[in-house]
Amino acid sequence: MKCALVTGGSRGIGKAVSIALAELGHHVLINYKSNETEALNTLEKIKSKGGTAELIPFDVADKSSVDAALDAWMQNNADSKIVVLVNNAGIKNDSLMMWMQESQWKTVLDTSLNGFFYITQKLLMPMLVNKFGRIINIVSVSGLKGLSGQTNYSAAKAGVIGATKALAQEVARKGVTVNAIAPGFIRTDMTKDMPEKDLAKTIPVQRFGEPEEVAALVAFLASDKAAYITGEVISINGGLY
Ligand code: NDP
Repeated sequence: MKCALVTGGSRGIGKAVSIALAELGHHVLINYKSNETEALNTLEKIKSKGGTAELIPFDVADKSSVDAALDAWMQNNADSKIVVLVNNAGIKNDSLMMWMQESQWKTVLDTSLNGFFYITQKLLMPMLVNKFGRIINIVSVSGLKGLSGQTNYSAAKAGVIGATKALAQEVARKGVTVNAIAPGFIRTDMTKDMPEKDLAKTIPVQRFGEPEEVAALVAFLASDKAAYITGEVISINGGLY
């Protein structure tokens, strides 16, 4: 079975990505941390469209949780291969640097940057042996230009961008591509408390993006057609740089 693991697949961008990859014919492993109801909703949506998927809860920021879940899955599914990995799970916890608690710094970096490391390192070897893999990291405009109030989030996403470029060079000749997608404002739970009307005026396209628009780009990068794109950071931001 051709499988795709989507971290943070219960809500927002990850939900749309899970559905899009199932439509491409992948069996999707829907990861989430705590919101089982929304994860089940993603699963049901995939099934209602004729796709297949399963839930795989773990905390991406906790290496022992990642190892336990993925080791067990690989043991129980020895004939299946995870050929697509979408490192999407992420959180923000904004504060000006002056007031930022160490816990705010740590949780944001642990989730995006360390989570990327724990999961990618585990799934990389089978991709290299199989001579095929697609690793797609969801970063942010914040990691490209830096945003006030987000030193932790900007650092985490910039870290993943650097890792994307380095890893792409390590594994390109083994048929594994590694790319990052940098969304601007996308309409999800993460942005629901933002003043959308006011912010939309600052975006050339004059609106927030939809999770499905990001998912379409992920689906393309996951496809065979994207074999010659690697080490790239693709913005999807309505013109907001
Ligand atoms: P949401 O807040 O809507 O969803 C976050 C998802 O990540 C949920 O599925 C959540 O699971 C999961 N998650 C969070 N922490 C963990 C963890 N420690 N372990 C496992 N899963 C976890 O976020 P978005 O869909 O908006 O964001 C998705 C990604 O896109 C993030 O990396 C974000 O930084 C990035 N991004 C988003 C933008 C936006 O405007 N929305 C803009 C730029 C980047 P659960 O449901 O269990 O809590």
